[in-house]
Amino acid sequence: MSRFGQFARGVGRHIPAGAVRPLGRPAAVFFHGVEPATLDPNVQNNHHETADFIAIARRLKRDFDVLPLAAIDDVLKAPERHRRAVFLMSDDGYANTLTVAADILNEMRLPWTLFVSTHHIDTGERNPIFLIRLFVHHAPAGTYTAPHFPQSLTLGADREIAAEAAVWHLREMDMVKAQETVDWMTRQFDLKPLLERFASDAFLTWDQVRALKARGVEIGAHAHRHWPMNEHQSGATLLMQAARPKQRVEAEVGPCRFFSYPFGNKGDISRAAWHAVRDAGYDCAFTTLSGTLDACTNRFLLPRYGIEPRTPHISTLVSLLRAGNPRLRRWQSELA
Ligand SMILES: [Zn+2]
Repeated sequence: MSRFGQFARGVGRHIPAGAVRPLGRPAAVFFHGVEPATLDPNVQNNHHETADFIAIARRLKRDFDVLPLAAIDDVLKAPERHRRAVFLMSDDGYANTLTVAADILNEMRLPWTLFVSTHHIDTGERNPIFLIRLFVHHAPAGTYTAPHFPQSLTLGADREIAAEAAVWHLREMDMVKAQETVDWMTRQFDLKPLLERFASDAFLTWDQVRALKARGVEIGAHAHRHWPMNEHQSGATLLMQAARPKQRVEAEVGPCRFFSYPFGNKGDISRAAWHAVRDAGYDCAFTTLSGTLDACTNRFLLPRYGIEPRTPHISTLVSLLRAGNPRLRRWQSELA
């Protein structure tokens, strides 16, 4: 976790929003899904509970100018005139963005952008990270030898360490091999009852994405498959991950100008990745590094803050996001 992240989860919650308001600069923030209740935080770790999400949305509405993403050029050109500007976004494309989040944001008249991983909208196949966590936490106890995995995986009583390690290991593999490993995991026991139980992580269909678009939601791309676009990926994979989702969104929904990188942090995006995104014809792209939009020298590596499931002090955090700018600038120059 970055130093800003540690700070945000600790000291940040004791600072009143008004005290740091003058420090604010334009920023982008994002969430994943919104669920009425969490059944198992080990596998449903991407979703806000409804009441927490409403509290966050109210604070954003009260304390900031939440703008549609079409205003990004104005903000990037004159950030000092848009100090309270916030762009609100959601990643992946979970069905609960239509059934829960859209109503809340609609009622508050907050514009937002949804970034979809198009392979998962095309097929309904769950996010590989969700499937890894489902396997590690719910497979029968025993020792498993998964393809492309350096050592066998022993699943016993305490599984969180194994789950974290498996996720990190697969994120650092070539996507094609990593997907073979995940496919193998899903064949080790009957997942169907768990997939039904954890409907929270089901993806939208294209009809549902079109329904969101009809309600004014901007639709962007979040790669084709939900894997990192890092240095472990081939050039062909990166080009596909950048270009294909734009083609799919444009064929199914309409213009697709914006991109967000899956995972999107240091180690998840290579130089070849942002070049592929730029060359695919997007206007700009968002990472998950903390920082503010005025600090940016590269519009294909824009900062964006991931809102934790419980963040009642969201206004304080957004006003302090500039603390992440030195790290953001260093990283952008490393990838220049
Ligand atoms: Zn994602």
